[in-house]
Amino acid sequence: MTIWTSPHPDLDIPTHCTTYQYFFEENPALSGAYENAVTKERLSFKDVKHKAELLSSIFVRRYNLKPDETVSLFSSNSVWYPVGVWATVRAGGRVNGASPAYNVEETVHALKTARTRILLTLPSSLATARQAATKVGIPTSHILLLEESAPGVQSIQALITEAEADSSFDIIPTWQIPSNTNNKQICGYLNFSSGTTGLPKAVMLSHHNIIAQCFQLRQLQVLSAGEPPSKIHPDGLPEYRILAVMPLFHITGLVRFVSYPVFMNGLSVMLPQFTLPSMLESIITYKIEELILVPPILIRLVQDPAVTPYLEDLHNIVKRWSSGSAPIAPEVIKALQRKFPATGFRQGYGATESTACISAHPPSHFDYKYAHTGGKLVANTIAKVVALSSPTSEPDVPGEEILLGPNETGEICAKGPQIAMGYLGNEKATKETFDKDGFLHTGDVGYIDDEGLIVISDRIKEMIKVRGQQVAPAELEDILLGHEDVEDCAVIGIPDSYSGEIPKGYVVLKQRDLENEDTGRRLMEYVKAKVVGYKRIKEVEFVEAVPKSPTGKLLRRILKSWERGE
Ligand code: AMP
Repeated sequence: MTIWTSPHPDLDIPTHCTTYQYFFEENPALSGAYENAVTKERLSFKDVKHKAELLSSIFVRRYNLKPDETVSLFSSNSVWYPVGVWATVRAGGRVNGASPAYNVEETVHALKTARTRILLTLPSSLATARQAATKVGIPTSHILLLEESAPGVQSIQALITEAEADSSFDIIPTWQIPSNTNNKQICGYLNFSSGTTGLPKAVMLSHHNIIAQCFQLRQLQVLSAGEPPSKIHPDGLPEYRILAVMPLFHITGLVRFVSYPVFMNGLSVMLPQFTLPSMLESIITYKIEELILVPPILIRLVQDPAVTPYLEDLHNIVKRWSSGSAPIAPEVIKALQRKFPATGFRQGYGATESTACISAHPPSHFDYKYAHTGGKLVANTIAKVVALSSPTSEPDVPGEEILLGPNETGEICAKGPQIAMGYLGNEKATKETFDKDGFLHTGDVGYIDDEGLIVISDRIKEMIKVRGQQVAPAELEDILLGHEDVEDCAVIGIPDSYSGEIPKGYVVLKQRDLENEDTGRRLMEYVKAKVVGYKRIKEVEFVEAVPKSPTGKLLRRILKSWERGE
């Protein structure tokens, strides 16, 4: 029986405080900032702290926000997003992030699942937010905008400005963890993930989870730089600088672009909307040395001729590419190395349920020869690899787990201070995913080699990953089943060279004589109208029946083998 341990020294992670207290009140330097890459609007962390003091007081007094209640942020990347995050956490609330491109039904599901009390969004998402809020009984007065106000809707920016001008404004004290508990027991964040099966769920992340992940990441930084960068660079920019290309509402964004920069007294540069030129220009303007990206953006980097004019600058500035959130193809890694031979490469492997990284490459392995792996376990983390043929393929089902040794392929399971508390209001899914010994069953298939490097080769969970974003087949199946012509269906992810995977529907029609291209197109249009862009079904195949177990469970693995032509 093999249990793998991290190769790094154990870290002593604080348990007495919230993330807000640790990052803002116990940080003597507090010297960095968030900056908008396009408008150059900059909020220093000291500014953010003051604004969070005011906004948390407004949340509590005017909106009656109580500890454990949820504030949802449906927004693209903005320097005001972290203000919403830190104000909520300062008040003892829970921060929940989701895509501003969600349509009404998706927003309804998100608001219900996260038990939202206050909703912060953008003018472009306001109409959707209003309809969804009405459906779930959130008063429209509890919808606020982040930046500019709109008719009848105030922005947090305006509320804060008003409070700043009010000399009698009274700031509430920072919420404290009750003395009989610690930060491992306090949920401060709710991030969506469909986990191993079913619809998106709200993953409960504790304050400890976020602090622990920051400690784990900094240890790798310290190893690489000799000491943690907190100083000011000769060019006047903080030494630690990161470009927030990926969305702040995803776990990587919450950790790497909202939280970790404060911990590092660095500069988090927000890209409000991804375009290749704006990313490349920002890398050059802010001299970003390490980029945290997803495989489709790395594909653009190696394939898109628009990169050519920037090449010389990129060669001078970029030291390392970092990929995560989805598998990266070996051809892309090779092409990246060819195009940027002087750079290093690393991956982070993990999930929302592990507050991002379970493993990452240590500096000794920032080399393309290890690029196909997910790196080594981060500090304080242990792992086991469970045989897929174990009598218990689901945790907590009686029977012995068969644990595998080096280079043997099974389900990767991990335990550590970054492993989430569970799913909000969903004990069944919690039990199925987090076993009684505290291991997260990732639903990912892979092995750990002789050197302790994790290699991910497949996924047994249902989740489809499109351009690094999660798509839950159950959600698309529910929509398809609502179509009058559909008798039964199943959705799986099929490989795609750019997106990684795309959703494909296998459909049983009520009338077989409707099986034609036109019906396929109509079904795809029907789904398209109900979901955000990346969840669209891109292919439909008609079948006589979808494969099911005797108990009626969909056998997606059979569909995947059909897809491979087996
Ligand atoms: P999310 O919760 O959205 O971060 O998705 C987590 C899932 O993304 C993991 O369980 C994996 O299936 C996949 N994933 C994340 N990082 C990697 C990686 N470096 N290589 C392969 N798959 C990954």
